Amino acid sequence: GNIVAIVGRPNVGKSTLFNRLTQTRHAIVSDEAGTTRDRQYGKSEWTGCEFSVIDTGGWVVNSDDIFEEEIRKQVTLATEEADVVLFLVDVRNGVTDLDEAVANILRRTKKPVILVANKADTNEWIYSAAEFYALGLGDPYCISAATGSGTGELLDQIVSKFPKTIDDETDENIPRFAVVGRPNVGKSSLINAFIGEERNIVTDIAGTTRDSIYTRYTKFGFDFYLVDTAGIRRKNKVTEDLEYYSVMRSIRAIENSDVCILMLDAERGIEAQDLNIFQLIQRNNKSLVVVVNKWDLVEEKNTVVMNEYEYAIRNRMAPFDDFPIIFASALTKQRIFKVLETAKEVYQNRKKRVPTSKLNEEMLPLIEAYPPPSIKGKYIKIKYCMQLPDTQIPSFVFYANLPQYVKEPYRRFLENKIRERWDFSGTPINIFMRQK
Ligand code: GDP
Repeated sequence: GNIVAIVGRPNVGKSTLFNRLTQTRHAIVSDEAGTTRDRQYGKSEWTGCEFSVIDTGGWVVNSDDIFEEEIRKQVTLATEEADVVLFLVDVRNGVTDLDEAVANILRRTKKPVILVANKADTNEWIYSAAEFYALGLGDPYCISAATGSGTGELLDQIVSKFPKTIDDETDENIPRFAVVGRPNVGKSSLINAFIGEERNIVTDIAGTTRDSIYTRYTKFGFDFYLVDTAGIRRKNKVTEDLEYYSVMRSIRAIENSDVCILMLDAERGIEAQDLNIFQLIQRNNKSLVVVVNKWDLVEEKNTVVMNEYEYAIRNRMAPFDDFPIIFASALTKQRIFKVLETAKEVYQNRKKRVPTSKLNEEMLPLIEAYPPPSIKGKYIKIKYCMQLPDTQIPSFVFYANLPQYVKEPYRRFLENKIRERWDFSGTPINIFMRQK
């Protein structure tokens, strides 16, 4: 998937444009401090082309007195991580000093930049847009994010700027692992522990070109791709302190993986940044292994302490809590093998198919014993179920007379019962209700 970043000074309409582009299909808006709100990261689609949109302003809390330095960092990170940068300016304000500061950075990037003049609600504003030529970024694109005018042409323009995708001939049967986590949690150390410092173990397979974000390894008897390790090696001390740094840095790797190895720091526990990445993994329907790294630094390493950690982690990540947690040390290489082994198991769970006969045999008696609650005197009957073939994640469909009356708690009940019977550890699953 391609990544589009929206940059610009505060109040030019970044979040309005973001909403317009993503149509906020995922309506789970959370006001909890430090969580990835939908205002920041969303999915979009135009003429069959899917991409992610990031509103870099969504992270700025006190957006009215944002410092030039902060904007500079935001824009730098956006140019490093995005495929296309949308530089939003406000036609009603004209060119400001901050606009110029942003343009200075953007003129130096090789990434495609689209200059977008927002708030051009009526035609006369389009004439005012001419002064933005002075920014040296080509023709300004006039739009109104509020009314939607011009956004169709803008979307055409965005899609046309995406880099030509190289055909990644990755083998479908080999898992793609992404190692993710906030800065200094030990990602590079873990990867080095996996593959050693030697680079020559990279197998020479057609398709794993230098441009590819996949690198194939055969280590300890495991065959796997590591996704975008370059992004981890390419550290940036200037922007590392930004709240959304780890999100920006993880997006591409997460989107292109099957299983994410999310690293936490044993000494620090779960923090907002960790939850941001976790949510990104969930939003992309990826499978998960949690690694509590730097376990060597924990003085008392017994099962009681481990259980406390486990409980705290699952609690913070609820409601999804069916994933493995491994206590490891990238430094001493303790349980490094276990991490790979578990990631592989989780991948197999992701690919698991439950035979229809087995599924019905187990689930129908249960449903009979605990049927969905009747609504308005109407009884809901589930007659049959099956796992859908060829889906991204395991997806189960239950056929009912009144599928629309089966609510979320009951779907969760079905999901839990499936998880109790078959091992889907680490993998999200879908439960659909359909008309019989
Ligand atoms: P990254 O930013 O996530 O890639 O983190 P690094 O792999 O660069 O590690 C950051 C720091 O933590 C380095 O000084 C590592 O030596 C240290 N580190 C990484 N893993 C461990 C571990 O398991 N135990 C200890 N004690 N230190 C570690």
